[in-house]
Formats: sequence, structure tokens, C-alpha cells
Amino acid sequence: MMSDPVREALVQRLETDAEEAIAFLRGFLRSRSANPPGDTTEAADHIGAYLDKAGAPWRFEAAAPHLPNVVGTFEGGRSGKHLVLNGHIDVFPPLDETGWSGDRRDGKIFGRGAADMKAGTAAAVLTYAWLHDIRDKLPGKLTLTAVSDEQTGGALGTRWLLETLRDEVLGDCCLNGEPSGLNNVRFMEKGTRRYLITVRAPGGHGGYPHLSRNPNKIIATIISELDRRLHMRPATLPENIARLLTTPEAIATLEAGMGPGAADVVRSMTFNPGVVKGGLKVNQIPHECSVEIDIRIPVGIDFDKVHEEVVEVCTKNDAEWELIATHSYPGSLADPESLMMTIIRDNAEAATGKRPIPMSSLGGSDSRYWRWENVPAYLYGPSPVTMGRADEHVTEAEYLAVLRVHLLSSYDYLTQSADQ
Ligand SMILES: [Zn+2]
Repeated sequence: MMSDPVREALVQRLETDAEEAIAFLRGFLRSRSANPPGDTTEAADHIGAYLDKAGAPWRFEAAAPHLPNVVGTFEGGRSGKHLVLNGHIDVFPPLDETGWSGDRRDGKIFGRGAADMKAGTAAAVLTYAWLHDIRDKLPGKLTLTAVSDEQTGGALGTRWLLETLRDEVLGDCCLNGEPSGLNNVRFMEKGTRRYLITVRAPGGHGGYPHLSRNPNKIIATIISELDRRLHMRPATLPENIARLLTTPEAIATLEAGMGPGAADVVRSMTFNPGVVKGGLKVNQIPHECSVEIDIRIPVGIDFDKVHEEVVEVCTKNDAEWELIATHSYPGSLADPESLMMTIIRDNAEAATGKRPIPMSSLGGSDSRYWRWENVPAYLYGPSPVTMGRADEHVTEAEYLAVLRVHLLSSYDYLTQSADQ
């Protein structure tokens, strides 16, 4: 590879400003942003103060006053592609006050959201600021979107930004530091459908079953029928993606991180009846029983047809159904063999010594909003293992590796895609 002094200066800066990067993350972790309740102004101010000091353009764009999204954009010195950096500011509520400590000990940085995802969002903020410093030598355009509402679905965060500032935040490619683990890059995730299914009946005395049907029995029938029809139905994936997800290395990496069986789950629809409620007394026929169900639907299974199947089973059993719209959306997919995927894998391999594999997520992320618009979005972030736990943390080494991969991949993407 030809030597590139601009890139080498970035690599140098990762060394010289490592302490500054750690200080930024610790301050970010000390800034409260639990969602619920969802007031993220303190943490958003922390980002704003850093960007002010760095002289990088930014502003608040808020759907609600207590949920400021930090948005910034700058143009490089010549034309090229438009890369968007995305991360969320809000975090799960901590168990107690120590969740806001930002403590640093034994090579680790502790705090609620360290893994999910203040380390990843910090990487986005620093990437944006540090590339702004060399913007004259950079082609294309870079946009930062640090959003305040992801943990409760993104309606006032990423989705709102894409609705109100579409031209500024859509871009050509999106990079996100949600916790993935350093050994994989996430390029797809499942969709979900949630329902509340209810069966009603006159009810009555348990000894008089000829006078009323029993809603508990009918819900049991519905659960077993949906389970038989939907659970572990394999998705029909594009051939190259099926191949990527079933290499021995992919299966081993996936199951090491998420448990034995995860490799099949990633490529299949799953059905979970999570809450069943019915009946008041053992010798009574209940007048009502309900079940809340959660279906996870991978790309490669017809999202609308799953709905038809649920309705069909409910109708047959004379049950009412309600679709929970806030938790019902299709899966999403980005090209796992794109220029950006190769760039991320190259930089991660250089940073960690191991080439990460392309992988599917089990949970949801804001990257879906870009992928639904055919803008490829990729996740590369720290280990998800401690997220939401009392000891949530990142190691300094993995945080600095994530920062390195985001900074250099952003630079490489803008530089290499402009040359094409
Ligand atoms: Zn997250």
C-alpha cells in the first residue's frame, strides 16, 4: 500500500490522544441519560461541549425538549460519498447511583451504558471531530447523528431525524458502534411482530363444561398451533449470505458469543409466548384468557404472510387479536461484501490481530432505519456481555480499538469510495 501521511497522522493521533478519548468517555458516562425516564440533556451537553472545543459544527435537533439529538455535518475538500455516523445517547436505567461513576480501574471503564452504547457513540463523536480537523484533505461529506431515543424504539431519535432531516442524515453508508464484540461485524437483523391475543367466553362453574368453552384451553391450542407452524422455520436467504452465516468459523464465533444453538436461531423465525393470563379460581371456567406473543422474523421470510398466519389461527379459534405496532417491523439487511464491510474488517484485523466475521444481530438497532432505505449500515462495537448489568464496562483496550476502527474506516471509506 502507498504511504498516506494524512492517514498516518490519524494513526499517530490515536496514540497521542488516547487519554483524551478515555476522559471523554468517562465524562459521558457520568452524564445521566437513563431512558426511561429519558431526559438526555446532560449527556447531549457533554457531546456539544467537546465539539465546541474541537471547533466542529453541530446543533441540537429535538422532537421534544428533553430529548436533544446532536447533529453535525461538514463537507470535505472535494466531492465524494456521504458517510453517516450514528449512535445513541440514552441508556438503560442503572441499578443505583454507582451506574453514573465513570470509574476507571484494572484497565476497565465502568458505568451504565459503557457497552450499550456510550463507548460506540463516543467513537462516533471523536471520529467526527478528528476528521473535521483534516477536512480539507478529505473527500465527500461526514455527518454525526447522536440520538436521544433508541432504547424505547427510536421514534423521537433516528426515525424522527430521517423524517425531518432526510437529505442531511440519510447518506450513502452508515456506521454505528452498538455492542457487537470485536470479533464480528453486524450487517443484518431480524424483524419482529408482537400481538395480544384474547379469547372470551361466558365462563361458569367448572363442573358444567357443556355451558361454556374454556378460554384457557383455547389459548393453549393457539399457542401450540402457532409454535408448530412458526417456531424455527428456516429463512430462505440469498446464497452468499447463507454461506457467510454457515461457515464453521461463523457458527463457532456466533455460538461462543451467544450460546449453543444460536447459529440456527439466527437463520430462523422464532415464536415466544411471553405472558399468559387467564382464570380466577381452579373450579371456575374463566371468562377470559390472553397471551402476549413475540415473533422474531429474519430477512428471507415473508413478513406480511406471517401476519396472515397469525390472523388465520386466531380466526379459526374465535380469538381476538391486536398487533402491537410499536414493536412490529420487518428485518433489515446490508450487503455483507461491500467496500465498507471490507474496510471495517481490514481495520479491525489490524487493531485486534483477528479478522472479524460478518454476522447477524439477535436484537434490534437503529441501523434498520438506514437499511430499509437501501443505505448499507454496519455495526462494530465493544463486547455486549456486560450490557445492562451492575458491572457494565468496556476495557480501555476494546474502547480504543473501536475508536481506531471507526476513525480509520471512516477515513478509508470516504477516501476509497471517492477514488472509484
Ligand atoms: Zn444500543
